[in-house]
Parts: sequence; C-alpha cells; structure tokens
Amino acid sequence: MPELPAPAPLAGLIDLHVHTTASDGALPPAQVVEMAHALGLEAVAITDHDCLDGIAEAMQAGARLAQEVIPGCELAADTPYGEMHIVGLWTLPGNPELDALLAMQQQMRECRYREILLALDRVGMPLSEDELLAEAGAGRSIGRPHIARAMVRKGYVRSVADAFRLYLSPGKAGYVERRLLKPEEILQIVKKSGATTIFAHPMSLPAPPEWIRKEAARLCSLGLLDGIEAYHPEHDRKKIQYVEKLASELDLLLSGGSDFHGAVKPAIELGVGHGQLRVPVELLLQIKKHRKQAGLAV
Ligand code: AMP
Ligand code: FE
Ligand code: FE
Ligand code: ZN
Repeated sequence: MPELPAPAPLAGLIDLHVHTTASDGALPPAQVVEMAHALGLEAVAITDHDCLDGIAEAMQAGARLAQEVIPGCELAADTPYGEMHIVGLWTLPGNPELDALLAMQQQMRECRYREILLALDRVGMPLSEDELLAEAGAGRSIGRPHIARAMVRKGYVRSVADAFRLYLSPGKAGYVERRLLKPEEILQIVKKSGATTIFAHPMSLPAPPEWIRKEAARLCSLGLLDGIEAYHPEHDRKKIQYVEKLASELDLLLSGGSDFHGAVKPAIELGVGHGQLRVPVELLLQIKKHRKQAGLAV
C-alpha cells in the first residue's frame, strides 16, 4: 500500500511577522517563503523594517510554490516609552504616499547610521560606510544589526549580542536615537494606502500596561488601528491574555507571528518562535473578512 504523505508540521498555522535580507533578516525573501512552504504554513507575511524591497521576490516564490504570501512591512513610531512598532499587512509598492514615507524612514536610518559610525570612531572603533554597506548588501534597510555584524567582522566584539550589549543599546557609546514620526502619522499613511494596521508586540514596549491600553484605545478611536499582535515570542501567557482582552474590548483584530530574522536571532524559528508559538489560520480569515467588508483586496 502506498504510504500517505506525512502531514506538514505547521498545517493550520500562519506567521504574520517575518524579516528577510531586505532589512535585517539573514535569509533572502525567496528562501523564507520556501521554508514556510516546507513547514506547511498556510500563509506567511513578509514584514521587513521600513521597506518593501523583499516583496516582489517573496510573491514570485509564493506563486511558484502555491504558497500564500502577504505583502507587509514593519514601521517604528515615537512614543514617550520608546519605539512603538506597527505592522502593515497588504502594503504594496506603488502607493505614492506610502513610498514617500518609506523613503523618509530610509533617510532617517541613513542619518542615524552615519552618526553611529562617528560615535564608534570616537571610541576607537573606526568603521567606514563602505564596510557597513558591504556587510549589509545592496538595497537593504540598514539598521543596528548590520553595524553589529560589521563590528564582529572587524574584531571589535565577539558577537552581535555583545555589540548590542556593550555599544549599540540606549546609554552606550554607540547608541543614537532614531528620529521617528508619531504613531498616528505613520498609521494614517499606512491605513490610507489600503493596508491593515497592526500594533506589533505591544507588551514589548517598556510602558505600564495601562498606558498601552490607553494608547491602543486612542489610535483605535481615531479609526487608524485595525488589529493588535497578541502572539509573539516576547509575549508570555499573561501578556497574551492581556492583549486578547484588550482586543475584545476595543473590537480589534488579533494577529501574531514569530518575528523570524534567521541566524541573526538564532533562538527564533519561523512559525513557532521559541517553539511554543502557534498562530491559527482562523485569525487570517478574520482579517480577510474585515478587509472584504471594507472593500479591500485580499
Ligand atoms: P534598528 O532597526 O536599527 O533600531 O535595530 C533594531 C533591530 O535590531 C531589531 O529589529 C532586531 O532585529 C535587532 N536587535 C535588537 N536587539 C538585538 C540584540 N540584542 N541582538 C541582536 N539583534 C538585536
Ligand atoms: Fe529586526
Ligand atoms: Fe518589532
Ligand atoms: Zn519585527
């Protein structure tokens, strides 16, 4: 009797938060999509930091493999407690306002990495822009992880983790704050482009939970926030429950994902995060229902 194929390990599950080499992930978009397909994920959203450069390659790989790929991105906004992260789902290249926002985010990244290079020079760790760009590869959304990798290559630190811990974190010699827009400024543009807006890993913000609740409520009342990420490797069971309750109070969609970066964050695996994460495909069906009701494509 012919053997039945083994069921895909992650059948019935999705991952709506994933990074590639277009920003600070370690694997190219097509490879991430192939991996999602091999794992049996029902859908994967590509959500690189401040850019859509990986989307075309990911969608092509998705079409080739009949793997659902949702185009997305992750943007940072300024709050009194540091960076709020916003995931946009169905962000497509070609929207003039969104493209302009992303170009501005890239310019602000460029300004910051130049300032970081100057700061590192002052503490005796010269790193040229060419060396950084070589580390990052062409067309990438450059961030601290690329600087950290270049510092390892130059022999200044032993690991990316050490580079962050000793130099690139707030309060350290190589830390430079990124200039960011307000959450409502980012959300307005992302939402108007036809994307679904998600407050990403809200409980990672070093803010009192009550502040996070009020901020979500405020952005929701402005009609700018569609959903909130409950399922994320940085959320323990208690945080997940807090976000689930908040979503139900505010009538927000629930989302989730691994925040996979490949070998850059070796402890995080696609689809399952630290191993326990499970994001059911039903959440995506809800998101799609919401989009269809608003007359948006899915
Ligand atoms: P940036 O976007 O330039 O502010 O850099 C933030 C990115 O650095 C995050 O998206 C993570 O991917 C990465 N990151 C933050 N902290 C660490 C860390 N301790 N070790 C490795 N990567 C980190
Ligand atoms: Fe990242
Ligand atoms: Fe994030
Ligand atoms: Zn992320």
